[in-house]
Parts: sequence; C-alpha cells; structure tokens
Amino acid sequence: MNEITIDAYAKINLALDVLGRLPNGYHEVRMLMQQLELKDRVTLRKTGSSRREIRLTCDNENVPADNTNLAWQAVVLMMDLYEIAEGIEIHIEKRIPMEAGLAGGSADCAAALKAMNILFELDLTTKELCRLGAGLGSDVPFCIQGGTAVAGGTGTDLTQVKGLDPDRYTVLLCKPPEGVSTGEVYRKYSERMADMVTRPHPDIVRLVGDLTADTPLSQAKKDMINVLEYVTGEDLPVIGEIEEAMLEGGAVVSRMTGSGPTVFGIFEERTAAERTGVGLADRFPQTYLTTFR
Ligand code: ATP
Repeated sequence: MNEITIDAYAKINLALDVLGRLPNGYHEVRMLMQQLELKDRVTLRKTGSSRREIRLTCDNENVPADNTNLAWQAVVLMMDLYEIAEGIEIHIEKRIPMEAGLAGGSADCAAALKAMNILFELDLTTKELCRLGAGLGSDVPFCIQGGTAVAGGTGTDLTQVKGLDPDRYTVLLCKPPEGVSTGEVYRKYSERMADMVTRPHPDIVRLVGDLTADTPLSQAKKDMINVLEYVTGEDLPVIGEIEEAMLEGGAVVSRMTGSGPTVFGIFEERTAAERTGVGLADRFPQTYLTTFR
C-alpha cells in the first residue's frame, strides 16, 4: 500500500473540570469528551524515495506546513521509532476550525499515527498508538480512541463511556473570531483558583451515569459545565451572547468547548439548529452544523 486517507474527527467537551496542579506543573483535569462528525481528512503517501523526507500540503494556508504541524511530528516519531527511511507526503483537507477548542491539530496527529501504522504494517494496537500519541499532545490519545470518553490525569487516561445519541441530536458550533491561547487560559485559571473553587463544578460521574441511563438531556445538562468558561467567558463576553442566541433558538444546552472560544449548542430539532445557525452565521462566518458520532 502506497497511500491512505484517514478521517480526523473534531471533539467537544461535554464537561470539563480542573482538579488541581500536578507536581510536573501540568493541570489535572477531568473531562467528558465526545467526537463529532465534523472532520479533516489526512492523506499519507509514500513518495518512493529512499531518502527520509517529509512534505506537507494543506488546502488552508493558515495551517503550518512544517515540523510544527502535529501530523508532521507524528510521522517523524514513527520514522524514528521504527527506523523508516522513506519519503512521506502528507496532505490535510482542513475543515475543523483552528484554535477553537475542537482539537483539530490533535485529530490530524492521531490520523497520521494511524496512517503510518497501516502504511508500514507496524501492527500497533490502539493502546500502543495512544501511548505514543500522549507524547505529542494530551488530546491525541482521545482522538485515536474516538467515541465518547472520560479523560483524567492530564487528559490522557481514558475510560470509554456511552455518549449522546447521534440520531437524536444536532450540534451547532459557532466560533467567534477571537483567538484563545490554551496555556494562557490555564494560567489565569490557576491565578484565580481561590475564586474558581467557589463556582459550580460538574459532577462528571453523575453525568456519565445520566448518559448511561438515558436521562433526558434537560436534566443531565446540569453537569455539563466547563470551568474554563469562567476565564474565557469573562474575557470574551461574546461567548455568553452566542450561548444566549443558541438557547433562544431552541438549544437544550449551550456551552463553550475546551479552552474556547467555540460555543456548541445541542438541539433536539434539526430545523431549530439550522435556523439558529443561519442567524449566527450572519455575524460569525465560522458557524457549522454537525452531529455526534
Ligand atoms: P485544542 O482543542 O486541542 O486546544 P485547538 O482547536 O485549540 O486544539 P488547533 O486547531 O489544534 O487548536 O491548533 C492550534 C495551533 O496548533 C495552531 O495555531 C497551529 O499553529 C498548530 N497546529 C499544529 N498542527 C496543526 C494541524 N494539523 N492543524 C491545525 N493546527 C495545527
């Protein structure tokens, strides 16, 4: 096999809690993550050259086409570990908005690891791929495993759970143009820790129980809290405005994903999501309709 294309799916955080700081300086988190149908496509092709060279192209010029790209880093890691001396071309069809809290870079990284595994018949298990991926980014193991999972530790300890039914809900995503630095958001969260502990936090064990028991979303949503919204939402009031528009449009729940700034709304009626999306797209061109997977 000389070429393979792998789908790279976006995720949202149905809930996100920061539990504290680990001795290594990373934050300990607990998150409930679910993949979406919104996806990039990552193609890897052997160039036929016996020189170890990598080339990366993308249909979006804002995506880095060098060794800062996580898909590139995935290929380098596999070449190093498995002594692969062959040229590889990577092409990314970029559909997941960037710097959005949707793990687009991590999804491309996961797809590139999977593609190398298949192209070079390495026979690595999902667990082994996740272990390698964890070294490249804390969302990468989830992107490899997929589905719905509770993520603990720095985000890399995964437990697969039942997610929201893809046939029952439509997901509306809306990304305001403002950029958000994930590191900065965590830093501000730590600085305001004394205030943060007094705010509502999600009970993710209860939320998982509710999803497993098919408890109505109108009830389960009480634990769909993202504590990073206390930081990003305060800095960017537009996040609250988008959430309000989604709720007014009929969303059962609307929250920020990851460190932001993308807001998602979960709708029971697709037509209501479509109508709300059309309204929001006037002001925010990066508005997308998708579903869970
Ligand atoms: P997360 O939800 O994991 O915080 P994000 O949605 O905030 O991710 P990404 O779109 O994954 O952010 O990318 C953030 C930065 O990573 C970009 O500004 C870009 O420079 C770099 N990057 C590296 N590889 C990629 C990639 N394959 N696609 C997009 N950005 C990438």
